Amino acid sequence: MIRTRFAPSPTGYMHIGNLRTALYEFLIAKSQGGSFILRIEDTDQERFVEGATDVIYKTLEMSGITHDEGPDIGGDYGPYVQSERKNDYIEYAKQLIEKGEAYYCFCTKERLDSLKTEAGSETITHYDRHCLSLSKEEIEQNLKNGVPFVIRQKIKDGTTTFHDEVYGSITVDNSELEDQILIKADGYPTYNFANVIDDHLMNITHVVRGSEYLSSTPKYNLLYEAFGWDIPTYIHLPAVMKDQHHKLSKRNGDASFQDLVAKGYLPEAIINYIALLGWSPSINQEIFTMDELIKIFDIKGLSKSPAIFDIVKLTWMNGEYIKKMDADKFYEAALPYLKESVKSPVDLKMLAGFIQSRIGTFNDIAEMVDFVDTLPEYSPELYIHKKMKTTLENSLVSLEKAVPFLKEQTEWTNDALYENLVALAKEMEIKNGQILWPIRTALSGKPTSPCGATELCVLLGKDETIRRLEKGIELLS
Ligand code: GLU
Repeated sequence: MIRTRFAPSPTGYMHIGNLRTALYEFLIAKSQGGSFILRIEDTDQERFVEGATDVIYKTLEMSGITHDEGPDIGGDYGPYVQSERKNDYIEYAKQLIEKGEAYYCFCTKERLDSLKTEAGSETITHYDRHCLSLSKEEIEQNLKNGVPFVIRQKIKDGTTTFHDEVYGSITVDNSELEDQILIKADGYPTYNFANVIDDHLMNITHVVRGSEYLSSTPKYNLLYEAFGWDIPTYIHLPAVMKDQHHKLSKRNGDASFQDLVAKGYLPEAIINYIALLGWSPSINQEIFTMDELIKIFDIKGLSKSPAIFDIVKLTWMNGEYIKKMDADKFYEAALPYLKESVKSPVDLKMLAGFIQSRIGTFNDIAEMVDFVDTLPEYSPELYIHKKMKTTLENSLVSLEKAVPFLKEQTEWTNDALYENLVALAKEMEIKNGQILWPIRTALSGKPTSPCGATELCVLLGKDETIRRLEKGIELLS
């Protein structure tokens, strides 16, 4: 059975690339009837950010990415948390020491720093294996005296080759790999070690993660080999980019899931969008529910080239989701935004109906309805519309006709008003647009409005309609 895991380190908020990794892991497992596991990799105490685990948890929950198992937390499955399993890892490291695949290292920070200085660089250099040559007695003496130590992996000579489902076959000369630390001086395992141990213990079949881990993978494989364990299938994902040259990154404060939700994007739309960020379905379709994604997801559609996060496309997709929302649900979701922008006593449910198919995100609402409370100052040019064949002159004539006509209307409904105004246009021997466009303009004061002339009349009510039309006449006279 396929088993995947999402293994985030709680070091800040959840950016889009991370969420995409989680989504693909979830889809790979679910599309094959497998299990998806959540594992918090928090053994790097220095990078730990308070509250970050909650953000991960909440984001996955809102996204519909639910894990299948974990320790019992009062009737629910919690995630596996590495810091809670700290002591298990040391036992595994000791097994490696016995096998001659790892060793104690007692080098001080000063000694390690001096290696860097000798090499003339702050960043490079591999550990020089000084402690590999310590005698058994020296090691025992040091341990007995409580000399601080780390445990290092002993990288063997030769080359390491592995297959990645996205990147193909990769070979690395082991001389490029350092004897990496497995257990740190504080007793915690490094991320690199705990990750391998847990992937094995949790029977993970498919390891899915960012391509930045491609270069560490040979080291992991040498660990699997040292233990005699099966190597999982690897699926490394190309980065999600902000543009051609820059990665989306938490450090630069690029969009996180939370930010997008706060900006009025729907979780389902975000998930749908990021599913397509580096994966193409086998059919020509863009809008997918999570269930549809589960049915159709196939790793063959994963791309090797970096994907660019396109907010315009996401906004379009979000608009498609908003359009498809049940009208009552949309009203409920839009109400806080509408109440924020509209204080006059208009029918907000009606207004919600007008805007539903016209917004990309909920944050577009404010700008779309700003004319309701206050008619904006606008230029007479707005009355001129080529296709409608409206001019400043004929618009004035139409408004002057419309005011007394509308004053007389007793049935103030969209259907009745529309029918009667069309009849009036006929009587005036003008096109419908030549009366409707000037009314729409006078009522909204904007080049676009969320609904047509007669709908605006109904929304604003008779008094306000007449007042705004008279203002229009004033402007055009
Ligand atoms: N803890 C690692 C991270 O947050 C996970 C890498 C992996 O999935 O193996 O990037």
